Amino acid sequence: MPVDKHTLLSTKHANIFALGDASDIPASKAGSVAHFACEVFVGNFLQHVQGQAMTGSFDGHANCFVESGDQRALLIDFNYDTEPLPGKYPLPVVGPILFHQNALVYASWALVVLIAFYLGRTRPGLNVRAVGENPGDPTQLGPVMAKLMAEARLNSDLFGEDVEGPGRPSHDI
Ligand SMILES: Cc1cc2nc3c(=O)[nH]c(=O)nc-3n(C[C@H](O)[C@H](O)[C@H](O)COP(=O)(O)OP(=O)(O)OC[C@H]3O[C@@H](n4cnc5c(N)ncnc54)[C@H](O)[C@@H]3O)c2cc1C
Repeated sequence: MPVDKHTLLSTKHANIFALGDASDIPASKAGSVAHFACEVFVGNFLQHVQGQAMTGSFDGHANCFVESGDQRALLIDFNYDTEPLPGKYPLPVVGPILFHQNALVYASWALVVLIAFYLGRTRPGLNVRAVGENPGDPTQLGPVMAKLMAEARLNSDLFGEDVEGPGRPSHDI
């Protein structure tokens, strides 16, 4: 059926639209073309029956997935004006690494980020890390403990009070 290739309205009858294989638009006879044309058609149809000018313009959008064997496939995407472009989807080389993993792999990546954040950016995480590095050093229990130890040392120096700590063994009384 002859139609305007942008509005999909019949060129002979003002009350008939055609899309998909029944139309004569210069695009592939493909499900994707019918799909994309339908998106434009709905708005145009509503405007047309309300006596308004149609603002939707179909651009001939088509795409096709082509299995090429060996676990590979092509996607070609084009319209009235643009021929299929060469390239790889979505990114060459790193694309399959980033976008073709098992859900568990993505979960493990997220876990690594979360653990790194916990150990490097949160107080409990810093305490855990510090204790893990030197369990015998109480100052490694975090800034609060370090402050307490510093105050205790100061008291010891000023008032002769006893204090234990790294490099500062307790005195025999
Ligand atoms: C073998 C084959 C493989 C294909 N592979 C692909 C593919 O991989 N990818 C792709 O994008 N496209 C593919 N296509 C094309 C795709 O199927 C069509 O472009 C698409 O189905 C067109 O949709 P349509 O709604 O315009 O027409 P249709 O899907 O043909 O729908 C028309 C409907 O109208 C009904 N009908 C007909 N006459 C009347 C009547 N008088 N009264 C009431 N109902 C009626 C028919 O029964 C039918 O259900 C393939 C086509 C074929 C034949």
